[in-house]
Amino acid sequence: MDLNTYHKLIKSETNARKYLSKKCRKNGHRFCPRCNQRKLYKLSSGRRRCARCKYTFHDFSGRWINHGRLTCIQWLSLIKLFELELSIRKMAEQMSLAYNTAYNAIRTIRYSILTHAADGPDLLTGEIEIDECYFGGRRKGNRGRGAAGKVPVFGILEREGQVRVTVVPDVTAKTLIGLTVKTVRRGSIIYTDKFKSYDSLMFCGYRHLKVDHGKRFSSGKVYINGLEGFWSWAKERFIKHHGVSKENFPLYLKELEFRYNHRHSDIFDKVADYLCDLVPKLE
Ligand SMILES: [Zn+2]
Repeated sequence: MDLNTYHKLIKSETNARKYLSKKCRKNGHRFCPRCNQRKLYKLSSGRRRCARCKYTFHDFSGRWINHGRLTCIQWLSLIKLFELELSIRKMAEQMSLAYNTAYNAIRTIRYSILTHAADGPDLLTGEIEIDECYFGGRRKGNRGRGAAGKVPVFGILEREGQVRVTVVPDVTAKTLIGLTVKTVRRGSIIYTDKFKSYDSLMFCGYRHLKVDHGKRFSSGKVYINGLEGFWSWAKERFIKHHGVSKENFPLYLKELEFRYNHRHSDIFDKVADYLCDLVPKLE
């Protein structure tokens, strides 16, 4: 979002609230977050009561944005600073917030992104690169079992398209091919390096081409430079975060996947949409 539009939004709390509460409606209509009923009674407090299940709620009830006691202007400012990739410390400074308040708000944003990543995206298709990469840990490790203390991440990249990155328990053929089959349409061309876990791809309905790293520049389209580019872009960002704990790692990773997949668009509006989503219930 450009700064002019943004400034208009945060001119008043009313403007900011209008922008955000509009995102909490379905086709312009308010609905009960518990049972989806559209018939609601307006209470004198400004809240609504569901005609069916009698649940009483306000615009942000049950939504990500309801976490933490921030004003709508504060949320929009946080989204803007998140868009600009400021560190939490700098965000807190810029907004005169306690570090923990900013930290928790950004964590909420990351969780809302994570739930979208699990939406069950369309299958990737066409020319696909797949590769694994190790994050964290100081020591250089060997591929596979030698990479102690590091987190193995599996990446699938559609050339000129989307990327999917997943933390994996191991880099066995069973794990990597299993994820590929779930993510990539049969009939696609898959480029990999010579790692043996990829050998059975050709039996799974794909055209499998292996990169010869020794002569990568002479092999035309047979390369995995797209994914290697993603890895170094991602690693640079992890260095900026000064080390991320193992528990938080998947959250950061999905943020990077999101940023990459929206690299040609404005993420402000998207993040605001996600924040206004209902928090999925654990059932
Ligand atoms: Zn209801």
